[in-house]
Amino acid sequence: MKDVYTLADLENREILDQGADKPARLAVIGKPIAHSASPVIHQAALDQLNIDSRYIRIEVEPGEVENAFQKMAALNFIGCNVTVPHKLEATTACNKLSEDAKAIGAVNTVTFDCENNLTIGHNTDAPGLVLAIREDFSVDLRDLKVLILGAGGGAGRAAAIQCARIGCDQVWLANRSVDKVERLAKQLTETYGHSEQLQGPGDRFTPISLDSSGILETVQNVELIINATSLGLKASDPLPLPRRGIQPFHLVYDMVYQPPVTSLIRHAQEIGARAANGKSLLLHQGALAFENWINVLDANEPLASMRRGLEKNKP
Ligand code: NDP
Repeated sequence: MKDVYTLADLENREILDQGADKPARLAVIGKPIAHSASPVIHQAALDQLNIDSRYIRIEVEPGEVENAFQKMAALNFIGCNVTVPHKLEATTACNKLSEDAKAIGAVNTVTFDCENNLTIGHNTDAPGLVLAIREDFSVDLRDLKVLILGAGGGAGRAAAIQCARIGCDQVWLANRSVDKVERLAKQLTETYGHSEQLQGPGDRFTPISLDSSGILETVQNVELIINATSLGLKASDPLPLPRRGIQPFHLVYDMVYQPPVTSLIRHAQEIGARAANGKSLLLHQGALAFENWINVLDANEPLASMRRGLEKNKP
């Protein structure tokens, strides 16, 4: 068994399942992929439900996503997850998209319907975020004024579109490269219009440069700060926004979950703000993905097993 498989391993079952006690029937594709926590959570759920399948990691090059899907479907895979950098490419490599995947413009979960020759793309990151915010802060995302740091990246963009879809009143889209969020704000305004709830003047979607001094004023108007930049992955990373911007009334959600306490979370907690890391998003998007593949009758599953699996395999 390997930690990371390649497309060459998908030639036939003999190669793929060599040395394994169960057939590989689910996977996560990406590049790099060795760090992915998806096998830990999905395998825990498969084992708990006595499903005779392995969940593996497959490293796939850009441009090879459709090929990967075809090879997995030919080997009778149930489906797969898709991660960086393939979430966009997967939208064209599928021949059917769910409403969530269409709206977000990205696919993180695929189901293979071999009987009807369908490769169906879903997006569980977006609804997963709503569940994560509810779990960590006991509030509905749609009721909050939100600042998304890194809204020009894949995860931040998905969060911004989800906020627009569910009716958040005001969303500030902050990014280092401001051109990306200027385009996104325009697109969201065209598609989702202006909020009926919005009182007085002001735009529903406001782009802002992460480096501008205006960010300090902006942050005073928001209730929820989401960090969707990659800052926080390394201990030496600076905070994604100036320290004095964060106030005790803020809810701070850092999508980074490793390390579990980022500098942003530590600072927020030190000044008395409520803060949470991206573990809840990892779990909820994973549980929703799993439910696309396997009919689970127990209301606590697969989330409970995934949570235990992650806890047991803490790095
Ligand atoms: P992307 O590479 O698509 O986006 C990265 C974002 O970070 C961009 O907005 C980029 O800005 C910004 N950024 C990178 N470096 C800096 C810097 N030095 N200063 C300021 N901004 C910076 O990555 P993803 O969107 O896929 O992931 C973003 C984060 O979210 C990662 O930390 C990832 O681990 C986490 N994540 C967590 C998930 C979970 O389940 N909890 C799921 C998905 C992601 P620019 O556009 O200017 O380059």
